Amino acid sequence: MFVGHYAGALVAKAIEPRAPLWSYVLACQAVDIAWGGLIIAGVEKVSVDHSLPGSALVLSHMPYSHSLPAAVLWSVGVATVLAWLLKLPRRAGLFIGLAVLSHWLLDFLVHRPDLPLLWTGPKVGLGLWNHAVLEQAVEMGLLAMAAASWAWRRGREGLGWGGPVVFLGVLLVLQVVPLLTPLADDPVGLGSSAIATYLAVGLVAFLAEFRTRKD
Ligand SMILES: [Zn+2]
Repeated sequence: MFVGHYAGALVAKAIEPRAPLWSYVLACQAVDIAWGGLIIAGVEKVSVDHSLPGSALVLSHMPYSHSLPAAVLWSVGVATVLAWLLKLPRRAGLFIGLAVLSHWLLDFLVHRPDLPLLWTGPKVGLGLWNHAVLEQAVEMGLLAMAAASWAWRRGREGLGWGGPVVFLGVLLVLQVVPLLTPLADDPVGLGSSAIATYLAVGLVAFLAEFRTRKD
């Protein structure tokens, strides 16, 4: 799952708009940003199997990023740090934490059983990746519904459309490109491209909101 995770960010922004969009956008992928770093460091393990449907990733060991207790800890940690740095109201901090946690729940929907319920197991995942077309439809559907709730909120606030259209357009491009380019079995490459992509989307979110305020 890639763009589907941003549904968590957009719903949070729709419900609690006092945190900047970029903070929700980074929060909803915080677990994968951590995964990228841990993969590069060799602490967590990934390989690639192109015979698998949906996603070629074999996520054999990721207790510190994608176990349920780790996701809860990332949620509390990221929410605390961002709320403190950005001097956010408590409710906005809470929604940043929920955006972080939404990552694990959405991964649970699509991953094959590779998400540890405790630090190392038992491993769970409903495996929607095994039904690649359905998985893409669910991701796009979640994003579309979340974008609609965000648009509704922005309409109420009298904000323009330029920023959101750019943001959603970039997400759609980033969803399609990996479908056309097979992944290399290179953990350092996978981790660094994941981190670069998530930070770039955070930057687009920052620019989209910055631009919109001036609409
Ligand atoms: Zn993930």
